[in-house]
Amino acid sequence: MNLEEKDRKFIWHPFTQFLEWERDKMVIIERGDGIYLWDVDGNKYIDGVSSLWVNLHGHRNPYLDRAVINQLKKISHSTFLGLSHRPAIELAELLIKISPGLNRVFYSDNGSTAVEVGLKVAYQFFRNQGVKKRDTFLCLKNGYHGDTIGAVSVGGIELFHGVYKKLCFKTLKAPSPYCYRCEFGLHYPQCGLLCAEELEKMVKRNRDRLCGIIIEPKVQAAGGIIVMPEGYLKAVEETARKNDVLLIVDEVATGFGRTGRIFACEHEDIKPDIMALSKSITGGYLPLAVTLFKEEIFSAFKGKHSERKTFYHGHTYTANPLACAVSIENIKLLLRKFDSYKKKIKFIEKEMDRFKELPLVGDVRGCGFMWGIELVKDKRKKTQFHIDERTGHRICMEMRKRGVILRPLGDVIVILPPLSIKEREFKKITDSLYDLIKGWR
Ligand SMILES: *Cc1c(COP(=O)(O)O)cnc(C)c1O
Repeated sequence: MNLEEKDRKFIWHPFTQFLEWERDKMVIIERGDGIYLWDVDGNKYIDGVSSLWVNLHGHRNPYLDRAVINQLKKISHSTFLGLSHRPAIELAELLIKISPGLNRVFYSDNGSTAVEVGLKVAYQFFRNQGVKKRDTFLCLKNGYHGDTIGAVSVGGIELFHGVYKKLCFKTLKAPSPYCYRCEFGLHYPQCGLLCAEELEKMVKRNRDRLCGIIIEPKVQAAGGIIVMPEGYLKAVEETARKNDVLLIVDEVATGFGRTGRIFACEHEDIKPDIMALSKSITGGYLPLAVTLFKEEIFSAFKGKHSERKTFYHGHTYTANPLACAVSIENIKLLLRKFDSYKKKIKFIEKEMDRFKELPLVGDVRGCGFMWGIELVKDKRKKTQFHIDERTGHRICMEMRKRGVILRPLGDVIVILPPLSIKEREFKKITDSLYDLIKGWR
């Protein structure tokens, strides 16, 4: 059996329908360099989705390679339960320094667990203070926080989450500020204002039973790169403050420069109580995640053993030293390079704007280095393609032949390149994609 045959025989790929996977030509990646990937047949591709939203500075980055190698020479893993180590301590200090006002770092190893930790801590925070009534969360439709059951419970994507409904804890779901398909029939920015008002009403009505509000700030990423209109985030923060519920932000996708700010919270200067980070935290090198907390939350967990205030939660590979070491270098490099990266955003915006004129393009939205192009069958009526047509998927498969790896969210074509991409390289993606969509069918 060759590699492809073995893959088809032995592997169950994530988020993959196998009837389709069996039909598609398989790309088996062998190596990467900068923003490029090479497959085992020697074909070269631009990594147009940053290896699923994790890569910032390119593959085989010399600084990051060296950070892993140096740590490898010391130790690859040692437990964080009852012991500590230098990379995790130094990374925690750095994260707190750049965070929007947070003071404590809890380590885990993927975005879903970072969210689970945030939810469990928020829940126990009230219990530790004797408040038993608060047992639910408010989240957003079209929200995505990961695939473990707690994260699914606060998720709002019917296609991914619907089947597990009975397995999940109950949550309140506020409208998504999705101005292109506003559930109130409004447009930008009125849609955002009304969504924020609706959320406020829901919080007010339920404040006695809410632990917190969980949102992806600025961009609902997996929901289809849905960008929140200005003022929305600030309004949600005010609602959380006025009603004394915790504000949990999931910056797993948006964190570390992706939206044009180090954290998306900075767009409206919001100060969360809890923040989940993963994806770009190691620049795409190793799995790592953190949940950051305000000191008041941490303090509520101190007490005698008999008081049962301890947070009994931890993952075996928590704070893996290799991952922490590369994360430190990744963040330092980001801070050094961010000004030069940001200079490209104007160009990117202009490039993306061109797509609006195409008949099959209903909406173009994004900010910084994360963009989505929503394809529609009928532009005027905003009619969607049938799910079995797999339009987004087929376009992305065609893009592979043109040397670009993209992965859609339904019929939203996502362009989310490493921040280190050059303008002419970005233009190669957009030129190919523009021609492809223009000539589609
Ligand atoms: C990807 C993602 C997650 C889940 O992270 P995993 O590492 O895949 O578990 C959670 N929240 C957001 C906003 C994400 O984009």
